[in-house]
Amino acid sequence: MSKTTSAFIALVGRPNVGKSSLMNTLVGKKVAIVSDKPQTTRNRIMGVLTRDTVQLVFLDTPGTHRPRTRLGDFMVKSISEAMSGVDVGVLVVEPTKTVRDSERDLLKKFRAQKLPVILVINKIDTVADKAELLTCMAAWQSEGEFEAILPVSALTGDGVNELLAELSKHAFESPHFFPADMVSDQPEKVLAAELLREQMLRSLREEIPHGIAVVIERLEERETERGSILDIDAEIFCERDTHKGMVIGKRGAMLKQISTAARMEMEKVLGAHVNLQCWVKVKEDWRNRQGLLNGFGYRL
Ligand code: GDP
Repeated sequence: MSKTTSAFIALVGRPNVGKSSLMNTLVGKKVAIVSDKPQTTRNRIMGVLTRDTVQLVFLDTPGTHRPRTRLGDFMVKSISEAMSGVDVGVLVVEPTKTVRDSERDLLKKFRAQKLPVILVINKIDTVADKAELLTCMAAWQSEGEFEAILPVSALTGDGVNELLAELSKHAFESPHFFPADMVSDQPEKVLAAELLREQMLRSLREEIPHGIAVVIERLEERETERGSILDIDAEIFCERDTHKGMVIGKRGAMLKQISTAARMEMEKVLGAHVNLQCWVKVKEDWRNRQGLLNGFGYRL
């Protein structure tokens, strides 16, 4: 039998560059939520891809930013954790010609650990003029050595096989740490909560979703005559009464829209019929209250 290899890979980059989308495309399944609003990934999420003898383990991280709340502290801390103890770093950037200081900082952190770094220029589907892409690559080449600079599109899948081939070169001989059919370390409850939060990010005004936490109180499988059903009870916590009103909407219309869309996503991702019940509650200023944060699963 041929020897097995594995690599732990940190995906880092500024918010909104497409780290979560890339992780989903790499592992071939939705394991991280995607949104056009920055800072949507709160926890470190792991995605696993096993192809024959190679196992690649991806750690997706919240985008870098200065912490303003305790939740922010947690997010920044989990980036540092994800960046240490990996075998290779992937810095994801957008196809622009400006290199940001925050990106240089991430690069410095990888280099301080003497980690090989692959630069991924994502969203190349948005670049019509290939000369622009070359300017972007040239700008990055002057930032020092990379194992590779790879243009990709998480959306279309362009360049993703080349990225996987490059990553496989950094896999060490080792047993596989996870079963071949496992794609994420997220328990179903966490995934269900994230899918509900994703729909809120999509449907609500900018400032409300960041003040929202979702807790899945119950997730149970029930056998019926028409097959099995997952009963999922979710609690949605808002920071203010006014936010609660907006989440529920006129005669419950907004909550209905959100929960229907979330249920459909849950059915797709969890592969079962779902009966989703949502309750909206207010817990003032939860982002700064450590006890509550722990209860919501954001542990420091
Ligand atoms: P993250 O904050 O870095 O994890 O970024 P997300 O994966 O949440 O993506 C941020 C936004 O960019 C979302 O609206 C995605 O749909 C979009 N996006 C991600 N990758 C691509 C891509 O390759 N092409 C295009 N056109 N959009 C992308």
